[in-house]
Amino acid sequence: MQQLVFATNNAHKLGELRRMLAGRYRVVGLADIGCHDDIPEDADTFEGNALAKAQWVLDRYGLDCIADDSGLEVDALGGQPGIHSARFAGTDHDDEANNALLLSRLQGVTDRKARFRTVIALARKGSEPLYFHGVVEGSIIDKPRGEAGFGYDPLFVPEGWIKTFAEASPDEKNAVSHRGRAVRELCRFLFRQH
Ligand code: IMP
Repeated sequence: MQQLVFATNNAHKLGELRRMLAGRYRVVGLADIGCHDDIPEDADTFEGNALAKAQWVLDRYGLDCIADDSGLEVDALGGQPGIHSARFAGTDHDDEANNALLLSRLQGVTDRKARFRTVIALARKGSEPLYFHGVVEGSIIDKPRGEAGFGYDPLFVPEGWIKTFAEASPDEKNAVSHRGRAVRELCRFLFRQH
């Protein structure tokens, strides 16, 4: 079976892709290939950051690799936090601080339109890199609701929904989410190649 490295240490993301590619690709994570590098992500686009991770593995380990980068874009903030979503409030992955900062920036703002975006980059030997995109449109509410999920989920209501992502089951979220869409686009491409 062909192998595909997913340049992540996130067990949840790995498990999800493993299930979707079961029987067709053996999906392995960074730890599985002995990569414990602190891979720099200093590009100024989602595409650039995703490719930086995938290309790092291809260049140093000679293995075909995918990597993802995601974030929240808020219209009234000119697309921020965007690529800075994880560290919006300054500290690494402090969801509560990020959400509090987002709410304070949007205090009194009526345009609450926002979207989550994911880009997956695929780097393969002898091929140009490819990108797979996923977007979910929605809006930012004024108080967090729900306990599920992570990140900005308690503040994000997808278009046509009443619940926030943090009030949805994993399957409900996955059916419309930016990440779900990008992963399904990647899988459609890989299945055509197979
Ligand atoms: P990553 O590139 O998937 O690690 O996402 C970067 C950051 O974007 C996360 O740390 C979150 O702050 C935010 N983010 C990405 N996807 C989601 C999501 O599905 N729900 C909530 N926040 C997200």
